[in-house]
Amino acid sequence: MRKSSETLFARAAELIPGGVNSPVRAFQAVGGAPVFMNAGRGARIYDVDGNEYIDYVMSWGPLILGHAHPTVVAAISAQAEKGTGFGAPTSLEVELAGTIIEAFPGMEMVRMMSSGTEAVMTAVRLARAFTGRDRIVKFAGCYHGHSDALLARAGSGVATLGLPDSPGVPGRLAELTTTLPYNDPGAVAALFAKHGPEIAAVIVEPAAGNMGVVPPRPGFLSRLRELTKAHGALLIFDEVITGFRLAWGGYPGGRDIDPDLTCLGKIIGGGLPVGAVGGKRAVMEQLAPLGPVYQAGTLSGNPLAMAAGLTTLAILRENIEGYELLKRYSLSLCEELKGLFGRKGIPVTINRIGSMFTIFFTAGDVCDLETARRSDTELFARFFRGMLINGINPPPSQFEAWFVSLAHDLLDAEKTLDACARTLETM
Ligand SMILES: *Cc1c(COP(=O)(O)O)cnc(C)c1O
Repeated sequence: MRKSSETLFARAAELIPGGVNSPVRAFQAVGGAPVFMNAGRGARIYDVDGNEYIDYVMSWGPLILGHAHPTVVAAISAQAEKGTGFGAPTSLEVELAGTIIEAFPGMEMVRMMSSGTEAVMTAVRLARAFTGRDRIVKFAGCYHGHSDALLARAGSGVATLGLPDSPGVPGRLAELTTTLPYNDPGAVAALFAKHGPEIAAVIVEPAAGNMGVVPPRPGFLSRLRELTKAHGALLIFDEVITGFRLAWGGYPGGRDIDPDLTCLGKIIGGGLPVGAVGGKRAVMEQLAPLGPVYQAGTLSGNPLAMAAGLTTLAILRENIEGYELLKRYSLSLCEELKGLFGRKGIPVTINRIGSMFTIFFTAGDVCDLETARRSDTELFARFFRGMLINGINPPPSQFEAWFVSLAHDLLDAEKTLDACARTLETM
């Protein structure tokens, strides 16, 4: 049934470490050969054997309009005809910078790059340069890309594979990153009381998506703002997932917080490689060529990515009620799923924020990495494999978010629930 995927994976495993170019894709947490994809259209994707799936990975978040949205494809094609990059500024970069700054109150300047990892790496460098301090504070289960400073107890693939901090990151560098539990403002206050003058920045996913979906508790983000401000440290919001995912602009629950820097990626590239860091003028002006903090990129602000991002954002802005539709689809899907699990007697906790959610295979409240880790990952793996056989493509890890797109419709929801019911019969 997935013969071509298996053949390709065997060949890939000889040529590419683990057969994949990003670890979670390898299916290690769920077993079996990864599915090699061939095409996508709307909410559906098609593998190399011709099987069709309703997709909830959506390229890990960027495809909020669905696969191969015709208007986005047309914009990319039109730009490709004109040239794929010039190593010189284009009007598209100015336009996208303007759109992003307008959508984030408090943001005054933005620099585009090619990945979220780069964006976060730059934000950290800026924070260190601006404050003259070295220590970075992050939260267990938050993933901020794979730069050295931020691999300490990261979420996403690091959590999926159960890896400790990555070898290859020098101990003396890792010591400069302090990891605290998410949703625990007391731990942050205690750290500031002890090490305040050393802390350059606190970085956080304002709504976490990389240990599975974990919303911030009321008051958590505002406490981070108070503490950083009181101690002269910067607050960095990593909105690579949440930017334009839950509302026009950033995470709605963080709107009044006014972080110093915000990292973006995923949706703002419309499915093409992208990253961006934006923030206060005084901080951003530290970047070369205005200031001494170096950052550069051969393909930064790439016109294809800018065209895809601009078009995606334009469609989102014209259909602003789409966010409500996304939420309604996701809410009702999650409630129905919860009912199916309940009737089967399998305890799950479903965390949802807008159009992203995670089914944790545990009965208890999931509010940080420790509680997320109480999930029965074996049971999740069985569920995942059943869903795949029944034509649904969920993220292949307990510790990732399902993403809903504007292309998902009621028929997709029905089919998803049907597949879930059939899967649960076998569990
Ligand atoms: C995806 C992600 C990143 C890394 O972005 P890449 O483009 O994969 O480098 C950083 N932070 C968060 C919150 C992410 O979800």
